[in-house]
Amino acid sequence: MALAVLKFGGTSVGDVDRIKNTANRIIDEKKQGNQVVVVVSAMGKTTDQLVALANEISSYPSKREMDMLLSTGEQVTIALLTMALTEKGYSAISFTGWQAGIETESNHCNARITNIEPEKIKRHLNDEKIVIIAGFQGVTEEGEITTLGRGGSDTTAVALAAALKANKCVIYTDVTGVFTSDPRYIPNARKLESISYDEMLELANLGAGVLHARAVEFAKNYQISLEVCSSLEKVSGTVIEEEVTVEKSLIVRGVAFEEDITRITIFELENGLQNLSSIFTTLAARNINVDIIIQNQTVGENTYLSFSIKNDDLRETIDILEHYQTTLGFKHFEYESGLAKVSIIGSGMISNPGVAAKMFEVLAQNNIQIKMVSTSEIKVSTVINQSQMLDAAKILHAEFELDLVEHNVN
Ligand code: ADP
Ligand code: ASP
Ligand code: MG
Repeated sequence: MALAVLKFGGTSVGDVDRIKNTANRIIDEKKQGNQVVVVVSAMGKTTDQLVALANEISSYPSKREMDMLLSTGEQVTIALLTMALTEKGYSAISFTGWQAGIETESNHCNARITNIEPEKIKRHLNDEKIVIIAGFQGVTEEGEITTLGRGGSDTTAVALAAALKANKCVIYTDVTGVFTSDPRYIPNARKLESISYDEMLELANLGAGVLHARAVEFAKNYQISLEVCSSLEKVSGTVIEEEVTVEKSLIVRGVAFEEDITRITIFELENGLQNLSSIFTTLAARNINVDIIIQNQTVGENTYLSFSIKNDDLRETIDILEHYQTTLGFKHFEYESGLAKVSIIGSGMISNPGVAAKMFEVLAQNNIQIKMVSTSEIKVSTVINQSQMLDAAKILHAEFELDLVEHNVN
């Protein structure tokens, strides 16, 4: 018997009617004769509301308590969805992350899944039950509840698909698939029939919130073919897999953007490389995710260094730099917030030089100043002022012809 893992996001379970609709989609799958495991998110904007509640009480709440709080959101949905299935005459059972055997490391609010013990789930599947599991959460070796980072229910689903050796994994969401850019902000964005793991990984890492980046990483590592499609409309979605044979004509396949970026600049770092590595080791030890790094220039022994971080990490980064200023050996530092990152992604870039040059040129023509740049074989990212982020994304989307129908439809 085939096994399907289905994941439904917050909008898809946003109210009672949507939960009932989701129950019907699950029943359709069950009626095809498949065993079904379902992963769900918290209802609608519940997680945002819980974050806001915490912030009313504390500006910097403990991460452990945030996990305690945020993990409740998904627990509500699993119980309600299981009741909806039972009402419709189907046998189902719900589990929280720890009940489902989802083990994680102890990095609260951004924990990675380390292991899944699937025996309990398998037992219930063999009893003909539909198994409903809370997304986005797990448990550490010490029995502490953790969450996987915002959007982490996708990762729960893909990790379960890997652990259970599922035959398919479908991510149901509020759009009909993966688009060339976020369709909520880029009106001409078009749905892609398929996209490779590597391109999807870059898109997700660079801000396309449609999939949690770690979910794509899992899918690639375990060679799980993923489908992203709409929970509301019954139309074909986007397949994410190793080889993409269609839509090869496009050099750039997507434009991603991400706001709330801060650039830190450290002046007069003594002893160059030695201290450079100490800075990043110190930040990494506190789980600060440093993104683009630019070593501006070296004059004598002094290095001038810039790097970008998420605004959320700013306070902690300032604390660390102030605390270790003498040990790390630099004169002073400055920061600039109100920045955003806009990126173009596509594996066709490998064999087509000049893509970055074209990107810089078109941004310059539109008076968009580039503050930082980073490239890989299949992406070019720029940091610019946040106020120009959407304009830049729209301009690049048009410049690389992502809105042309003939490129995107088979
Ligand atoms: P869910 O609650 O189902 O997990 P998310 O809000 O996490 O849904 O992800 C879906 C959203 O991702 C869409 O509503 C869309 O605005 C956004 N998004 C960003 N980039 C893209 C993209 N390239 N293609 C499709 N959707 C995107
Ligand atoms: N509920 C969590 C969030 O809003 C996890 C998820 O939806 O994937 O981030
Ligand atoms: Mg999501």
